[in-house]
Amino acid sequence: MGLGLIVQKYGGTSVRDAERVMNVARRVTDAYKKGNNVVVVVSAQGDTTDDLIEKAMEINDHPSKREMDVLLSTGEQISIALLAMAIEKLGFPVVSMTGWQAGFMTNSTYGAARIHEIKTSRIENELDKRRIVIVAGFQGLNKYEDIVTLGRGGSDTSAVALAAALNADICEIYTDVDGVYTADPRFVKSARKLDEISYDEMLELASLGANVLHNRSVELAKKYNVKLAVKSSLNNNEGTYVKEVDQVEKMLVRGVTRDNDCARIALCGVEDTPGKAFQIFSLLSKNGIGVDLIIQSIGNGKNKDISFTTTEGDLEKALEVLNDNVSVINAEEIKWTKDVSKVSIVGAGMVNNVGVASKMFEALYNEHININMIATSEIKISVLVDKKDAERAVVAIHDKFFDR
Ligand code: ADP
Ligand code: ASP
Ligand code: MG
Repeated sequence: MGLGLIVQKYGGTSVRDAERVMNVARRVTDAYKKGNNVVVVVSAQGDTTDDLIEKAMEINDHPSKREMDVLLSTGEQISIALLAMAIEKLGFPVVSMTGWQAGFMTNSTYGAARIHEIKTSRIENELDKRRIVIVAGFQGLNKYEDIVTLGRGGSDTSAVALAAALNADICEIYTDVDGVYTADPRFVKSARKLDEISYDEMLELASLGANVLHNRSVELAKKYNVKLAVKSSLNNNEGTYVKEVDQVEKMLVRGVTRDNDCARIALCGVEDTPGKAFQIFSLLSKNGIGVDLIIQSIGNGKNKDISFTTTEGDLEKALEVLNDNVSVINAEEIKWTKDVSKVSIVGAGMVNNVGVASKMFEALYNEHININMIATSEIKISVLVDKKDAERAVVAIHDKFFDR
């Protein structure tokens, strides 16, 4: 049967060597043999992207983002050629395409480009000829006709965007785990695979450190109603389906995550007057610095402390901006640290359920883990803890909610 259109995406570990590339070729051609049209998005092999970054650093530790994108996009180009050769070897019609050949047009933000449009005519022509199309993930072309990349993990987003543009029946993300788990199965041994999860919960998990899916890919899947599945490229187990919230059974807590890419800045002894927070955060936002958790102490009537978190990558710039504007900020002291991590729980069923927060805090208390900051929203609770405690915190919280 078949006769559908399937977009499949294979990540770095799934194509890490010749044997794995042949494995993917067999899976792709199995789907094709059933009568489906198949478009495959691939990532760079294994640690290729990290190795390329290292190569750049050996030469220039502050390379331009433009040249960095030229370099990083080469990893995916290797994968498409090798996978196409593997499929040729199995005797099936196939054609590989870079992101620009496949029509990925993006905005001009090097290193973190967003897809504006995919001109799908070339892919569609190839599908009409019943060819399997292999597309390089993570890359596109901006209005200057420069190569850009979509940000680390961005091949997931290439795949979902392509599935939306081609109106595919399903987008299957193949990776090295069986699906989306209640926590990272790499270090939480009792983590369980979820059969289903809502777009909103998946978006939160992905944004809060569960790198099994790129967060932009989930945003796009929700926006364009793309049927999304996460599966293993190494077995035929049922994966996880990402769906509309009303099609998913509600759970108080769906998953626990950790994000190590955090830094905290504390502005101590800031004058306690109206407009201070506005001055500080408008300065940061004007300079393109993203701020996540914020706390402000009640203060002693004259002075107060304001602390906030950024990503590690934004820390240097944030400190530079703050130090360049000492006269505006007028803090007695500016302290900072990278030794913090954000640990979060996500679940659409936790809305207004204060018991969930107290249970999370109890799990941390039992492990003697101190909480530095807290943030809550309708479907998540995040705490900032010392980086050294983060893994233990995830395990303790996970055990509290998922083990009886
Ligand atoms: P790929 O190369 O296929 O894109 P990634 O390394 O980007 O693979 O993502 C898969 C990894 O995500 C898994 O190996 C796992 O360690 C990690 N991960 C983190 N959180 C979760 C989670 N909640 N469920 C499943 N995997 C997770
Ligand atoms: N190769 C890129 C990365 O390592 C994109 C991806 O794997 O999705 O981030
Ligand atoms: Mg990935």
